[in-house]
Amino acid sequence: MTYDRLVCANCAAPVSEGRCPVCRANRERLQQERDNFFAGLNPMALIALLAVLIAAVALLAHQTA
Ligand SMILES: [Zn+2]
Repeated sequence: MTYDRLVCANCAAPVSEGRCPVCRANRERLQQERDNFFAGLNPMALIALLAVLIAAVALLAHQTA
């Protein structure tokens, strides 16, 4: 579910427009959840990428030596 399509139960307007306090609270919460998701994902992806890089370099060094 994308938060852009979410309709507020209080004012029946899209939550992304933030027309009422309920909208703004929901929008803030959803944005925070999205930020947390990316914050949790990026270090993991970075570590995985680093591991692959180290393995590639080790393999290359092993082949040339
Ligand atoms: Zn609203």
